[in-house]
Amino acid sequence: MVSELNNIKVRFAPSPTGELHLGGARTALFNWLFAKKNNGSFFLRIEDTDKERSKQVYTDQILDSLKWLGLNWDEPLIYQSGRSDRYKHYLNKLLDEGKAYRCFCSKNDLEDNKKDSYSLYPGTCRNLTSDEIKSKLNQGISFTIRIKLEEGVTVFDDLVYGSISTNNKELDDFIIARSDGSPTYNFTVVVDDFEMEISHVIRGDDHLSNTPKQIIIYNNLELNLPTFAHLPMILGPDKKRLSKRHGAPGVQNFTDKGYFPESLLNYLALLGWNPKNEKEVLTSEELIENFSFEQVQKKGAVWDEKKLHWLSGQHIQNKSSQVLLEKIGMLEPDWGMNTEPSTLISIIESLQPRAKSLQEFIFKSKSFFYPPKSYNEDEKSKAWPNSEVTKIASQSIQILDAIDIWSSDRIEKKIKAFASDNSYGVGKVIMPLRLAVFGSLDGPSLFDIFFILGKKEAINRIQRAIAFMPK
Ligand code: GLU
Repeated sequence: MVSELNNIKVRFAPSPTGELHLGGARTALFNWLFAKKNNGSFFLRIEDTDKERSKQVYTDQILDSLKWLGLNWDEPLIYQSGRSDRYKHYLNKLLDEGKAYRCFCSKNDLEDNKKDSYSLYPGTCRNLTSDEIKSKLNQGISFTIRIKLEEGVTVFDDLVYGSISTNNKELDDFIIARSDGSPTYNFTVVVDDFEMEISHVIRGDDHLSNTPKQIIIYNNLELNLPTFAHLPMILGPDKKRLSKRHGAPGVQNFTDKGYFPESLLNYLALLGWNPKNEKEVLTSEELIENFSFEQVQKKGAVWDEKKLHWLSGQHIQNKSSQVLLEKIGMLEPDWGMNTEPSTLISIIESLQPRAKSLQEFIFKSKSFFYPPKSYNEDEKSKAWPNSEVTKIASQSIQILDAIDIWSSDRIEKKIKAFASDNSYGVGKVIMPLRLAVFGSLDGPSLFDIFFILGKKEAINRIQRAIAFMPK
């Protein structure tokens, strides 16, 4: 067992160049779970240094989605755009100590030197004398800043991937500040993670190749390293990285569709993490309780919508009908406006065993509020193929009409007795009636539907259907 770790500080560092996508939400969740499990802090850092692509609306959307998911963060909320002075401070420190240097090579110089697209920087400006530097600065030649890489091997122990080593020969003196003075991602991340005292950097494994570079920056700045944990990619069904191309929606879409945040959280947690006891339907508290990096896999996790629906259905089963009523009302304030609350509760209870989202309640409940406008031809030929069925439906009307106490149980008993008295298979009676009153063969129990509609409406609907069916 892993014992509780002390002073855990983690962060989620989204770039506000789009809404919160599923991969980002999963990264945020694993950070949050790890922090909560260890009584640590979970910070947010908005990586908004790309002025062109970063937008406040996206920051707002990301924050809203995180709030909706319940991934509450600790203050202060950090914006990289407000931290240029800190980056400058560390860049100057490296320059002063000779652990980074100005590179005056123009784009063309670099292109001319390149043998192929993998060519590393040959170190042209690495050993310029201070006079040479002064003269170039005086001439107003623009420069980038490059880290001074030492020979050797950069090694780190990833909590998911284990020991990873990179020969520094595979890297070059990479750029840490562009010619406009703006620091690069790898540099800002190191400065921020250090100043925020981040103990564990938990992020997608698309950043694995950045980690050695960041470690080199830590080393040149003589800073202590955090622990790293890289999470497996989320893949589409074709095993390629999940993207919009797969129709993968952002988190907002799940909010709009009336998913419960706990369903999405539960599903996201299972993308790359396997609960030890194999129980998969878990509340946030249970996720926190069970979370550990030992159970995080390296293999990419395939997005499986069916499983999400199943999990979502499981969470819906655990809700009271009253809670569902309130949530549906929040999503669709006009829902069931002209219907008694007690009937709405019955409708919810009848749909609850199969519903995957709140929107499904709204959609499917239409069949209670309005009689079917038409009947699906395939279902019609299956459930109501001939005039014999029409006769059965007419007889059923008499049976229903004669029922004294209108309850699901009573209706069920009477209809089943009618079927067996006449040696009709139960399906032969139930299927056409279901089609008649609900317009579809799929849905809640027929007897619940009858009960909710009331005797008069149920009989009306059967009569209407008969008019459309074989004589
Ligand atoms: N802004 C980076 C991203 O969105 C964060 C990477 C990191 O966590 O270091 O991928």
